[in-house]
Amino acid sequence: MEVNSFRPMPGHGWVLAACLVVLMGLFAALVSSTQLRPGETRPVEVRASATGVLPLHFELPPRSEQRWALWFPREPVDRLQLVGADGWRSDALDFFDVGEEEGILPTGFAVLLSREAQGPMVLEAQVDGGLHGGLRPVLARAADIRRIERSGVALAAAVYGGLLTLAALALALAYASRDRLFIGFFGFTVALVLLLQASSGHLYGLPGVRLFGLWRMQGVAALTLIHAATTLWLVEAYTIAGRRHRHAGLVRGLGIGLVAVAALCMLNLPGMGPVARTLAAVGSMLAGIVALGLLVAAARRGVPLAWALTVAGALALAAGAWLIVARHGGVDEGPLLQFLHRGAWVTFALILALALTRRIGDYRDQRDRDRLARLDTERRMRREAARADLSAALQTQLNGLDPREIPWQGFRLLMDHLLPLVPTESCIAVLRGYQGRDHLLVEPADALPSIEHEIDRRGLILRRQATAGMALQQPVQPSAGGPVVAMEALVPFQVRAPGWGVLLLRRAGGEGFTTDEMSVIGELARVVQLHVDQAAAAVKLRRSAEMDALTGSMNRRTIDAWISRTFTEAERTGRPVSVLFIDLDHFKSVNDRFGHACGDDCLRAVSAALRGVLSDADMFGRYGGEEFIAVLPGRDGAEARAVGERMRTAVENAEVRHEGQRVRLTVSIGIATRLRGEDAPAAAIARADKALYAAKRQGRNCVQVAPAVFS
Ligand code: GH3
Ligand code: MG
Ligand code: MG
Repeated sequence: MEVNSFRPMPGHGWVLAACLVVLMGLFAALVSSTQLRPGETRPVEVRASATGVLPLHFELPPRSEQRWALWFPREPVDRLQLVGADGWRSDALDFFDVGEEEGILPTGFAVLLSREAQGPMVLEAQVDGGLHGGLRPVLARAADIRRIERSGVALAAAVYGGLLTLAALALALAYASRDRLFIGFFGFTVALVLLLQASSGHLYGLPGVRLFGLWRMQGVAALTLIHAATTLWLVEAYTIAGRRHRHAGLVRGLGIGLVAVAALCMLNLPGMGPVARTLAAVGSMLAGIVALGLLVAAARRGVPLAWALTVAGALALAAGAWLIVARHGGVDEGPLLQFLHRGAWVTFALILALALTRRIGDYRDQRDRDRLARLDTERRMRREAARADLSAALQTQLNGLDPREIPWQGFRLLMDHLLPLVPTESCIAVLRGYQGRDHLLVEPADALPSIEHEIDRRGLILRRQATAGMALQQPVQPSAGGPVVAMEALVPFQVRAPGWGVLLLRRAGGEGFTTDEMSVIGELARVVQLHVDQAAAAVKLRRSAEMDALTGSMNRRTIDAWISRTFTEAERTGRPVSVLFIDLDHFKSVNDRFGHACGDDCLRAVSAALRGVLSDADMFGRYGGEEFIAVLPGRDGAEARAVGERMRTAVENAEVRHEGQRVRLTVSIGIATRLRGEDAPAAAIARADKALYAAKRQGRNCVQVAPAVFS
């Protein structure tokens, strides 16, 4: 039986890591092949102002063929409009309401300058809502700006496509593994996509979801907080893996707090925008730091991929922090920072996906282990059941068998119980000199003649293998050097030397026996032999307990039991039973004259003579001393007298010699027959005893039948 049909990929962790590197390489190639920096730029001087009006000073080259454009990073502002000193006004751009000419995935705010513009220029950027710090414009040729926008679309599409693929994968894995963590990962990925889209302004250009723009800054803040909460929950679930830890309460509390603030933001209370922005920044940074702490702790515990997650997470957090600083006017932002931020999050999500899919391997290993354990238990239970069955069968079926039939019956049962467990073509039990006999059992039985011949041929080798006492398996080759037609398992029996015995099982083809099968064969063979030996010993013991050691006939205890049973049975059937009491005449003088040993010989000879007269249906035993008893079921007084007479003459004529001299022996016999209503033998025995006394009184060497009632 092939249990582990699934072979794990060698070093699959490394293979997956290599795949990840390839993926990241492809992403890097995509980023580097796109143009996020314009070819030729001209400096723009921005005077900082708190009023929402930014004066822009720059100089354009003398009139040329190509138009110039001002390009601002896409910051969450409610309105951006450029106004010239001459009264020229650009279109008003709104972060939360993407204009049709901006496309659905705008990268920044692009404002095309007039074809006529040249020389030193002063424009006013009027900004409503949001932070102005990040609004540092790039002055470049319109064609370059269009290229930047197109590159931005390509990169954004790649990022969203990748993340949505991960989300779909997470659903599939959740379905396959029934692990809630994958549902969590799905939530994390979807929240990340929505957050990236909302914070880069892409959500508001998409048909269907553009209504989300109604929430303005508060919507972005809510998504930031929800994403922070899902990240925190997922990182905790992954790094802690169900264990209790000291900070569980803190982490859970923070997560709930983040979701609560997100819900508050979604109420879209008027004037809450700047507060929501601050709350989102603080909340997401806090969650990020806690998550990083959990990741570092997990990495130090050796949780797989935790270091990689720490690095990617730290990068995403740093990029986020940098973005916040840039929006407050601390540093220059530029399009690259946005992509670094998104790239770090995508990397984090990818590594997390990888880390979670590793768990599938763990489930598989666990399932394989469970299955193996279950099969093992089943096998053990089957084996145990077979052993118990066999023991029970042996106990009931060997009991009361003729000792000559015990081994045969035992090995028959062995084959019956063994073959369903260990399927084979043939099974042979060979025993030589086991309990004084040879045995050969073959299954299937029709192979017996050829097997007999084969066993004779292999006799010497088998004997050597049997006495070596080791179970083994060997190929069966009908001709020396010929093809292997079968495998043979050989399990020796424990037989006292010079006897020997083996159990041979044969399986066609080259397929051998498993270690497990070999041990089952050995175990059941031992069980059978134990029972067979015990049954034979029990028969011996029973016999010795039932027999009289001197004469080999039944002893008094056995006779008593037999008579009782015979009387009960006779009362039920209404048949007659006769009891004969036999006592040697003047036996004391035999002992006195010839010695006690001669007396014993006489007792044996008399016992044999008396038994010779009786039929198989009759019972005969030594009742004690030199007294014998015979029970004749189905015979009335007249028949019993005839038998008694024959007994008497048999003893009289018995040739017993002592030192060449004939010893003359006679017996007196008292007979009683069961009376109607007698279902116990005591009264009949007493009458037979009385009849015996009568015979003694009559001069011995005679037979007396007791009357129904003694006078
Ligand atoms: P009778 O019965 O004819 O009246 O005379 P008896 O001499 O046989 O008398 P009794 O039946 O009382 O004698 C029993 C004798 O049988 C006593 C003992 O010496 C002898 N005896 C009993 N058991 C054994 C035995 O196992 N071996 C031998 N050698 N003798 C035994
Ligand atoms: Mg006596
Ligand atoms: Mg006697």
